[in-house]
Amino acid sequence: RKADLKELEWVADIGHGSCGTVSKCTYRSVTMAVKTMPRTSNSYEMSRILMDLDVICLSFDCPYIVRCFGYFITSYDVRVCMECMATCLDRLLIRIKKGIPEDIIGKLSISIVKALHYLKTKHQIMHRDVKPSNILLDWSGVIKLCDFGIAGRLIESRAHSKTAGCPLYMGPERLDPNNLDSYDIRSDVWSLGVTLVELATGKYPYAGSEFDMMSKIMYDEPPRLSRDEFSDDFCDLVESCLQRDPKDRPNYDMLLQHPFIVHHETVPTDVEEWFADVMGEVSVAEAAAAP
Ligand code: ADP
Ligand code: MG
Repeated sequence: RKADLKELEWVADIGHGSCGTVSKCTYRSVTMAVKTMPRTSNSYEMSRILMDLDVICLSFDCPYIVRCFGYFITSYDVRVCMECMATCLDRLLIRIKKGIPEDIIGKLSISIVKALHYLKTKHQIMHRDVKPSNILLDWSGVIKLCDFGIAGRLIESRAHSKTAGCPLYMGPERLDPNNLDSYDIRSDVWSLGVTLVELATGKYPYAGSEFDMMSKIMYDEPPRLSRDEFSDDFCDLVESCLQRDPKDRPNYDMLLQHPFIVHHETVPTDVEEWFADVMGEVSVAEAAAAP
């Protein structure tokens, strides 16, 4: 049967982002997360967006990428229908109000690095928007990456510039106004490093106004994890990702062989149980706080 937009039923809003709105919907009784983005009037850009959407829809063979069921294109917008996940890591951080335990981050890192490696080797694309809100968890503790390519390209076409993604997670080379042409796959590795620091400590490593933060990213020493609180392997991994020169950062093959990743491949950490505990604790705390 041909897909029919009229059969898509809104259930609840999930959240708003820089380039659209995500809502929970049902389509012929299947629950989905639907991202609605305004469409661009430039037909060349539109055809690139369609190509990207095809990549997303073809990525169902990677267990670390959010499944995409398909998309609708109307004269005003593009609606991407994805599997609906339980939560994203930025919301989880807000709820737990502290960092995520290192063992859990070990498992998260494996999934994210494998997802990025898959996009690079299978589809020759970089993500460009690695950050906690684009890392999702489902109720069984499975971790998946979402929002690669399209989000960035939609913004890119509107702004007619090469910048895409959230500037706060961009490497220094991408913020440099004299260097907008240099797009390195290893920019995603920097974003991964910043994301890992945020997950481990519970907060984004730079502070101040957006202008302050961007100048710190460009000119300050990159953030580091404290060796008193985290294992040497974890601190080393973060340090290798957060190097000013993209050429010094590891590529995905190197990351997959990093002792931190290799170690956590063998440790039986139960992400599902941890997630259930966290959500349970939060619900109990919320119930206690309720009037
Ligand atoms: P952002 O820039 O915060 O990632 P988005 O528009 O991509 O903005 O997403 C808005 C919110 O919807 C985020 O909190 C995100 O984690 C959530 N979200 C996106 N996709 C899904 C999904 N497939 N399942 C559940 N939540 C999702
Ligand atoms: Mg997103």
